[in-house]
Amino acid sequence: MIYVHVPFCRSFCTYCDFYSEIASEGCFKAYADGVCAEIKRRAGEMDDDPKTLYFGGGTPSVLPLSVLTRILLALEEAGHGGRWQEFTMEVNPDDIVEKGLAYATSLKALGVNRMSIGIQSFDDPMLRWMNRRHDAARAEEAFRIVREAGFDNVSIDLIFGISHLSDEVWAHTVDRAIALGPEHVSCYQLTVEGESALADMAARGEYTEASDTQCRRQYDILCQKMAAAGYRHYEISNFARPGFEAVHNGGYWERRPYVGIGPGAHSFHGSTRSWNSKQLQGWTSTTETLSAEDTLVETIMLALRTDKGIDAAFLHENCSRDDIGSLVGNGALVRVDDRYRIPEDHFFVSDEIIRELI
Ligand code: SF4
Repeated sequence: MIYVHVPFCRSFCTYCDFYSEIASEGCFKAYADGVCAEIKRRAGEMDDDPKTLYFGGGTPSVLPLSVLTRILLALEEAGHGGRWQEFTMEVNPDDIVEKGLAYATSLKALGVNRMSIGIQSFDDPMLRWMNRRHDAARAEEAFRIVREAGFDNVSIDLIFGISHLSDEVWAHTVDRAIALGPEHVSCYQLTVEGESALADMAARGEYTEASDTQCRRQYDILCQKMAAAGYRHYEISNFARPGFEAVHNGGYWERRPYVGIGPGAHSFHGSTRSWNSKQLQGWTSTTETLSAEDTLVETIMLALRTDKGIDAAFLHENCSRDDIGSLVGNGALVRVDDRYRIPEDHFFVSDEIIRELI
């Protein structure tokens, strides 16, 4: 699994605190030089046959095609130029519409076979509040363009749990997403992140977080609508048509090793984790060794986010049988063959369930 971080955006969204810089032609070359050098240096860390490549950000769709091509060539020279089982690129609807069908077709020709479109909402006032570049009409136009370019694996991102987002507007957003017929939908509850503009707004008293009750209601609306439309709720925040579950993200939940390239990217090697510093040139890497306890907590937390759950024998070995029994007794955990999972109607409170176990 290879992840490439693209730390550029054209503007910053209200809620976001990911590492990103305002995109400009001048910084792409230094970024590409650094990424290509890192790929060469770390080629030995990559699987002989990595199945997935993921360009995330930031906003990978702000990268000129020439830069993307250069990075893919560097991967090829490092021995990883084959056909990817899954090659995902996160894109902004505005970039797709602005750059048009020729751009989307070129991405396909370069091997991208899964598009993840950051739509977030189909409500224009909400999109303006989020400081997104696109409106709802442009989001739909972007979706049409990627379909026309031949992408048959498209994911849409949405956000709920904003204090002034009504249930009606949220239901309408979910309906419009479903009407487009994406293969995959990721939905995240808004949280106030440390370095975001939203955190400043909250500190000034201009934003108050939505109540748990409101978030729960909107999560339930989402679950019901997605189930009725035939999507599998395979992870707390993710829904897919059968066979379109995200392979790359699935690897994170199963704690498979991955190599993260680029400023701010994280890597995982099984017993160690490393992360690159957040600077456009000369970024460095820091590594930490995970303790046995960290590994155990992470294994349980990640596995129980999914509908596959966790091996029952592993849970019995590492958690109190009384805790497991009481969670099973109140329906917060169910046994399916040789595994335990959190049932969908308890996904919303999974953090508390996992806390009880560990
Ligand atoms: S949400 Fe995406 S587009 Fe918006 S600032 Fe964050 S990384 Fe950039």
